[in-house]
Amino acid sequence: MNWNEADAGKKYAQQVANRRGWKVNPDADLTDHISSSLATIALRLGKPYCPCRDVDGGAKDADIVCPCHYSEADIQQYGQCFCGLFLSLDKNPTEVTSIPERRPE
Ligand code: SF4
Repeated sequence: MNWNEADAGKKYAQQVANRRGWKVNPDADLTDHISSSLATIALRLGKPYCPCRDVDGGAKDADIVCPCHYSEADIQQYGQCFCGLFLSLDKNPTEVTSIPERRPE
């Protein structure tokens, strides 16, 4: 992935969604914000770490490289990932909300 490319974060998100059988949240404001943060983090730390969590890019953060290890279970249980960037195919975007953090402290 060339993270300097225009809309790199959005392209990455769409690739992830296609691969996983999810959809990218159609809420343009939310998706623009999170996907551009993903690209900024990837440029800074070398990988697209979750923009909704504290990250320093060390080995302990391998579980939150997007798509994080918790996203599959969150989408199964809540129909959305922790950030709300990815949704299950049947999730209504107006129902996206904050969900509990599944990542162990
Ligand atoms: S919660 Fe997980 S899947 Fe969703 S944007 Fe953050 S890292 Fe990606």
